[in-house]
Amino acid sequence: MTSGQKRARQMFSSLAEATADPPGITRAAYGPGEQLAHNLAARHATELGCEISCDAIGNLYMTLPGEDRGAPAFFVGSHMDTVPHGGNFDGAAGVIAGLSLAATLVENNTVLPRDLVIMAIRAEEATWFPLSYLGSYAAFGKLPATAIDETVRSDTGRTLGWHMREAGFDPEPARQGKVLLPVRRVHSFVEVHIEQGPALIGGDQPIGLVTALNGGFRYTTARCIGRYAHSGATSRQYRQDAVLGFSDFVHGLEKEWDSLGEPGRDVTLTIGQVATDPTHHSGSKVAGEVGFCLDVRGPCQDALNGIRKRISALCDTVARTRGVDCVLGPEFTWPVTQLDEELRHQLNDAASTLNLSPPSMPSGAGHDAAVFAEMGIPTGMIFIRNANGSHNPDEDMDINDFDQAVSLLVAHYSLQASRS
Ligand SMILES: [Zn+2]
Repeated sequence: MTSGQKRARQMFSSLAEATADPPGITRAAYGPGEQLAHNLAARHATELGCEISCDAIGNLYMTLPGEDRGAPAFFVGSHMDTVPHGGNFDGAAGVIAGLSLAATLVENNTVLPRDLVIMAIRAEEATWFPLSYLGSYAAFGKLPATAIDETVRSDTGRTLGWHMREAGFDPEPARQGKVLLPVRRVHSFVEVHIEQGPALIGGDQPIGLVTALNGGFRYTTARCIGRYAHSGATSRQYRQDAVLGFSDFVHGLEKEWDSLGEPGRDVTLTIGQVATDPTHHSGSKVAGEVGFCLDVRGPCQDALNGIRKRISALCDTVARTRGVDCVLGPEFTWPVTQLDEELRHQLNDAASTLNLSPPSMPSGAGHDAAVFAEMGIPTGMIFIRNANGSHNPDEDMDINDFDQAVSLLVAHYSLQASRS
């Protein structure tokens, strides 16, 4: 085993041990677990001879100097926060892959033609703050103006600005839309990430190359609002039963999904949270309100726009037939993002030197890579085979598959060096 491989194993096990929150792992955005992960990464990067810096909102940049210090740098990275009771690999694998790449380059005395920056990005998991890619957007000065003061963390109810300050950072530049990471500093961005679906697990390839990231939209505070009533005293025709209205909504949604046919194959519609209000609900009451989250994703923007219209029509139907208003509330949306084709071909060429033939595949989940691509930076993603999906304690990446992803990075950047 190489020293880089040993280091990667150490980092994964230190992280798992230090941020265990049974069942699983919790590293809240701007919480102690995320900070611990950043500190761990910085310590290993320092040992490898990297320069360490941090921007105003806490994104961490670990720079292995290349020959031309002024040239735009190769960026590799991902996030280090997790969902509550998630797994150890989602996000962290990308940062540790970057550090493992640096370790191999150092071990081989390879100096790249330009700097290699391993970036640990803050707060990617939207479960903490209802924003996509918070750290990446803030890096490029693109965080929505209201985000700092009006977005609150789901577990504490405190604002993003409060959490940034509490973690020792300064939200002011992000509030003013200041650029913390100039686009011209970034030659290209590669994010290594565990696959969060089952596509690779059924095949014989340890890694895949991502073509595009699905777009989507989400309503996190949707409600079906009817009227609370006595369960025995209110006969059927006088009810405005929020549970039945919600049930019609869900059933109608699934019928819409069926009707999408071919273009709907890649679309996902998910109601991941449902609740009646515990301060009002009772076993002897007709429910007056059901709260829920609706998450819709897919690779085709037109299909997504079509579904949005049909969901709105479905709300009208439920209001008419049940007397229950479906109020979707604020919509949180993100576009379909194409990754760089040329970079994917380069990664594929590098893979073939390792006798790998990674399949090309879209990503159903969103990633920081989307922001880099949106900024016009050539961006690629490498997926690592992973059993049991992600956002749960059972993420199961084989460390040997991880090694293959690191080998691909090494081969890719070595080819880049030989071409320059
Ligand atoms: Zn992730």
